[in-house]
Amino acid sequence: MNLVLMGLPGAGKGTQAEKIVNKYNIPHISTGDMFRAAIKDGTELGLKAKSFMDQGALVPDEVTIGIVRERLSKDDCEKGFLLDGFPRTVPQAEALEGILADLNKKMDYVINIDVDQEILMERLTGRRICKECGATYHLVFNPPAQEGKCDRCGGELYQREDDNESTVKNRLQVNIQQSQPLLDFYESKGYLRNINGQQDIDIVFTDIDQLLGGLN
Ligand SMILES: [Zn+2]
Repeated sequence: MNLVLMGLPGAGKGTQAEKIVNKYNIPHISTGDMFRAAIKDGTELGLKAKSFMDQGALVPDEVTIGIVRERLSKDDCEKGFLLDGFPRTVPQAEALEGILADLNKKMDYVINIDVDQEILMERLTGRRICKECGATYHLVFNPPAQEGKCDRCGGELYQREDDNESTVKNRLQVNIQQSQPLLDFYESKGYLRNINGQQDIDIVFTDIDQLLGGLN
């Protein structure tokens, strides 16, 4: 069960990743974790990655791809893996094809959790925080009893700069521009499966589960 998981911010990727790896007992391989592990283990590539990160520079593709190759070669990936956050670009996706071929593996599915942009905006801009006690609310998922007021202490609720409409819209646009070529690439390879992410969390997982059940 060799999988890549994709989805825009707010699509619920993290939640579904957790459900997939728990049910199918495959490692969840996120870019951040992979880098941290390689650095901790002091591998040559890990140290290389660290030297770029310490300078605040982007880790070059050849280093990232090398780290992915090492990670996917480990025993715990024998039954499969769930890649999350890699690949980010078409060249990385092409490199991944090469790695899998070298390791005698093949991609099964690229699962894309699909949510309309307006709904993502609603999810991502809905957070409100209490000025007094720091309690967090969400206008859709966890609204305060009284608009604009904290249930706990009556303090005024505010929206963080990061959560405002123009910041979030910008972030989404950047992500869409980045991911679209990748979705097109995987569509053309026949790996892409779009899952409707606008449903209840458990139903989204049921859909994914049905897809993956067919692999066994
Ligand atoms: Zn409060």
